Amino acid sequence: MKNEELISSGYDISPEIQGAVSITSIDRIYNWSRRSSLWPMMFGLACCAIEMICTAASRFDFSRFGMEVMRASPRQADFMIVSGTVTKKMIPQIVRLYNQMAEPRYVVAMGACASGGGPFKEGYNVVSGVDKFIPVDVYIPGCPPTPQSLMNGLIALQKKIDHQTLKNASWYTKEPGQPIPVPVLGPDLMDPRRYEEIKERSRQQLSEVSQPGDIKA
Ligand code: SF4
Repeated sequence: MKNEELISSGYDISPEIQGAVSITSIDRIYNWSRRSSLWPMMFGLACCAIEMICTAASRFDFSRFGMEVMRASPRQADFMIVSGTVTKKMIPQIVRLYNQMAEPRYVVAMGACASGGGPFKEGYNVVSGVDKFIPVDVYIPGCPPTPQSLMNGLIALQKKIDHQTLKNASWYTKEPGQPIPVPVLGPDLMDPRRYEEIKERSRQQLSEVSQPGDIKA
């Protein structure tokens, strides 16, 4: 980081020691160190993953963001790039991996499929966006997004991290964070967070069926 970016405003530093002394805040140092050392998890879902792999290779190179090595274990990763179509069969694994990642963790939805279902939105087997299940920090449009788009998304994520503060960071609250309930894949995908709603709807349908002779609209 350049010294001018590091120094907090409102402090006068005499000219003799400028460049040798910096006065800054914990937040700025903390955010700078996190934004410069995100560790991405190594996984890809579909065609967008090819562009992600390309971004990691020499021509574009993740290393400039401090992301040299993609981690093979969620416990060593704090950054998930959802690169590709999120199917109903895959989402339980994605949520489980997200829960196992280290806090503070970040998610980028790369491409139309990860952001909202993309060309398969109406498909019987596709989730209409990974944000239905896990929180997303940055959305990258495109089908597929180019490596330049992905890098633009990474810069957007860095800017977002720059504005976080320890005062209200969710990972420093007194209570430990709760894992996201893992969806269950049966005949269709079920979100445990919606069990009450599903039960209520089932009760309503049963009560309608139990009144034969009624003409339904
Ligand atoms: S957004 Fe396009 S390129 Fe990316 S996974 Fe979907 S169909 Fe493939």
